[in-house]
Amino acid sequence: MSEKRLRQPIVAVLGHVDHGKTTLLDRIRGTTVAMKEPGKITQHVGASLVPTEVIEKVTEPLKKLIPTVKLELPGLLFIDTPGHSIFSNLRKRGGAVADLAILVVDVMEGFQPQTIEAVEILKQRKVPFIVAANKIDKIPGWKSIENVPFLVSVRHQDKSVVEYLDNRIYEIMGSLAELGFDSDRFDRVKDYTRQLAIVPVSAKTGEGIPELLALLAGLAQRYMKGRLKYVEGPAKGVVMEVKEEPGYGTTLDTIIYDGIIRQGDVIVVGSLEGPIVTKVRALLLPEPLQEIRATKKFRVVDEVSAAAGVKIVAPNLENAVAGAPVFVVSDESQLEKVKEEVMKEIEDVLIETDKE
Ligand code: GDP
Repeated sequence: MSEKRLRQPIVAVLGHVDHGKTTLLDRIRGTTVAMKEPGKITQHVGASLVPTEVIEKVTEPLKKLIPTVKLELPGLLFIDTPGHSIFSNLRKRGGAVADLAILVVDVMEGFQPQTIEAVEILKQRKVPFIVAANKIDKIPGWKSIENVPFLVSVRHQDKSVVEYLDNRIYEIMGSLAELGFDSDRFDRVKDYTRQLAIVPVSAKTGEGIPELLALLAGLAQRYMKGRLKYVEGPAKGVVMEVKEEPGYGTTLDTIIYDGIIRQGDVIVVGSLEGPIVTKVRALLLPEPLQEIRATKKFRVVDEVSAAAGVKIVAPNLENAVAGAPVFVVSDESQLEKVKEEVMKEIEDVLIETDKE
């Protein structure tokens, strides 16, 4: 395993209700399924992995249009449940579990109350983000071309239509400025460290998705390498959902953001009644959807490494709560230390919830 190995950045999708978060995630997932041999897709629980080969294929047409970087990342892991309530739950000490975010804004409607809330959360947790100005197909007079880069589509539009779009984008830039962010349309951004990129997209037609994926991957690679160093140690993760599963009892859907978790590992899970110490009975991933003969919902795996979405089966999970940390204990001498760490994270979550 090389020293330089990077893990997949974890990406959250936020924005106002109905602005297209779910549709955008579906589009990204659909692209992945269409571009890979179905059997090769690794399914995750509560998250979708877009592997590098897919990002490279999707962004191929951009090579002639804008400078693209050679990807060293193994892919992008999108958290499947959009919305900032889940996002604000997924936190670790000093920050968020998501490394990056997409802020979805309906280009026709502009900023709405939940857009502002989402930006404030991102700012507070210092999560870099990209703005997807969604639903460009709804711009009066827009002629959609399925699945092409925005930079290709925009060349086919009348001048007045492009002007209309630019006015909508200026409005978004104004709203972002009020919240303290300098931004511009991505192809006019001069310095990605200082300015947010706004990517015009349509989750419905796929226009602009190549740029969105290229910019996310590029940003992660250029500015987050330190944070994305793959750690081989015991896993750290967060509970997304506590779920009853027939035949398995109470299970935890988790996002693992660091290290490795194995079947048989001792884990500490945060709860309001104090730390739960238990042992991983099984780790479950979904059966690939494409397996026509698959009769079971899950398959058992021996281990998963960050970044990953995995279901943990273990005894005594009834008191676990969404948003709680899950840490693997490397050996018994570490148990007390890990318990303390877990409870500190829980306290932070409670204190911050009080403030909100
Ligand atoms: P969410 O609440 O943010 O997850 O929004 P949804 O993804 O559920 O989208 C809300 C509505 O907008 C649905 O009817 C979608 O079909 C529609 N929608 C989402 N993206 C687009 C888009 O790019 N173009 C158009 N025309 N409609 C869209």
